[in-house]
Amino acid sequence: MNVKETLLLSAEQTEKAGEILRGGGLVAIPTETVYGLAASAFNEQAVANIYVAKGRPSDNPLIVHLADAKDMEACCLDIPEEAWLLAKTFWPGPLSMVLTKRPAIPSIVSGGLDSVAVRVPAHPVARAVIAAAGVPLAAPSANLSGSPSPTRAEHVISDLYGRIDAIVDGGPCAVGVESTVIDMRKKPFRLLRPGGISKEQLEEVLGPIEVDKAVTGSLSENEKPASPGMKYRHYAPKAPVLAVCGPGDASARYIASQIGENDGVICFTGREAAFGKARFVLPYGEESNDAALAHNIFDALRQMDKLSPEKIYIQCPDDRALGFAVANRIKKAAAFHVITVKPEESV
Ligand code: AMP
Ligand code: MG
Repeated sequence: MNVKETLLLSAEQTEKAGEILRGGGLVAIPTETVYGLAASAFNEQAVANIYVAKGRPSDNPLIVHLADAKDMEACCLDIPEEAWLLAKTFWPGPLSMVLTKRPAIPSIVSGGLDSVAVRVPAHPVARAVIAAAGVPLAAPSANLSGSPSPTRAEHVISDLYGRIDAIVDGGPCAVGVESTVIDMRKKPFRLLRPGGISKEQLEEVLGPIEVDKAVTGSLSENEKPASPGMKYRHYAPKAPVLAVCGPGDASARYIASQIGENDGVICFTGREAAFGKARFVLPYGEESNDAALAHNIFDALRQMDKLSPEKIYIQCPDDRALGFAVANRIKKAAAFHVITVKPEESV
């Protein structure tokens, strides 16, 4: 692709970002989850350019970002009552709902599916850019396909500078993992991707929901995922990754017993001392602080990748609340190479 001149915009320059988007350009914007690479959802060519800039497979659908819940009507058909209820409870916020797509949304937005994922983001800059653009924005994460999602403007610069029209710097993203994706087209509603709104929070409103198989394990060659993105090895550092689950003291002792001097560990804060001989040790938050773990995990993966360790061990939180999303991203980075250490096996 041709090298583009990428404008670096401040968080105040949302009118300029809107103008570029109205003209069919690509702009990376901060959201409360991760940075998104936005284009007008109604502009087929602009959306096609997103796939090119990211190197994203064309069957991996994009999430459409709306200014307001009522804009669901412009993008979706057959919206169930429960979708309005979730919108009222969690929007603006990190929840994407998969609904039946209106023909007005080009099929390239949804990777050829007859459904579309929509959400109203909470970040004030994202909201101002959507308002300035005057149209819903299709926006996947603003990283190169296969690298960890970007949670800081510098991550976007390192992946997409010269490939897109502008980057709006809104500082680090508060949540740090992507939105939760739930399929609302039939009951029982199905969690396709854990994210910023927890399964427990959704179940308080909806009652029990199903969890798609691709969330907890890798699919075999010929299985078709409900959420196409789940089949790709996202969030992948160059070195092989092992996700180590179980209580922090046990997983730390297990990793310490395995680790070589050229390996890296992404560990719970406070456990660093356990890995005396490892060269690369990056703490990413306390075990009990799932919000900190979510906030830091992608940055830690990127930092570790730059250090070029031979192998990466990651202490993985349990599946409660936001920990479910963090654990899912770690297991995906590990291509589901997961070890669960029980306390008694830890010595
Ligand atoms: P990203 O914005 O990069 O986090 O990617 C969006 C992800 O949301 C995709 O990889 C899919 O897994 C999911 N998604 C988006 N649209 C749909 C849809 N129509 N049906 C199912 N999953 C979707
Ligand atoms: Mg992504």
